[in-house]
Amino acid sequence: MQYKYETHCHSNCCSRCAHSTPTELVKAYYSKGFAGMVLTDHFIHGNNCVDSSLTWEAQMRCYYDAYLEAMEAAKGLDFDVLFGIEHAYGRGLEVLCYGIDLDFLLMHPDLPQWDIQKFSQRVHRHGGILVHAHPYRWAGPELQLPLDLLDGIEVHNGGNPPDKNVLAMQLADKTGLIRTSGSDLHSVQEDKLGTAGITLPYRVHTGAEFVDALKRHDHCLIFP
Ligand SMILES: [Zn+2]
Ligand SMILES: [Zn+2]
Repeated sequence: MQYKYETHCHSNCCSRCAHSTPTELVKAYYSKGFAGMVLTDHFIHGNNCVDSSLTWEAQMRCYYDAYLEAMEAAKGLDFDVLFGIEHAYGRGLEVLCYGIDLDFLLMHPDLPQWDIQKFSQRVHRHGGILVHAHPYRWAGPELQLPLDLLDGIEVHNGGNPPDKNVLAMQLADKTGLIRTSGSDLHSVQEDKLGTAGITLPYRVHTGAEFVDALKRHDHCLIFP
């Protein structure tokens, strides 16, 4: 038995560019036979629609509400919703962060000022990991996040042109980092719903379990 997990999707609660609610995402993935999904809305420097005039705590709670809504929608379904973020560094450079939680965000109101080095340090200290989202999407091959600070590479991204995904796979071959596949879904109407993600030979129910599974390379990749 293999269990499917989406690793990269957006809801319209927090991502300005997304069109589906967290509840719609849960129902859509569940109906596609997925065992779970990681909600990875755009974070504060990305295409995020949380009111930036709010206090840090209010912003983070507002951001986390999307995840709570998804959790609520999954109640009674045999489906796990995991928390993640997609953090932006400009010029199309984005990193997916898994294995962190609301406490981590609340604890760090200075997070917006952190460079990738500090972000990486703190996330790792908290037990989380970082995966380079859609390498090369807009940037040339010379422009990428420092791989020594990251744990993985998204070798298939549903929003990346195929040639960029090929380059991402070559990069993963060279580095031996964790590989992930994600659809980068922004609406349940998109054809790419359910065409990407990972499979695991066992269920994971928490961000920490998801991270452990990736670190052990227990997963296989789902490609379109
Ligand atoms: Zn987006
Ligand atoms: Zn994304």
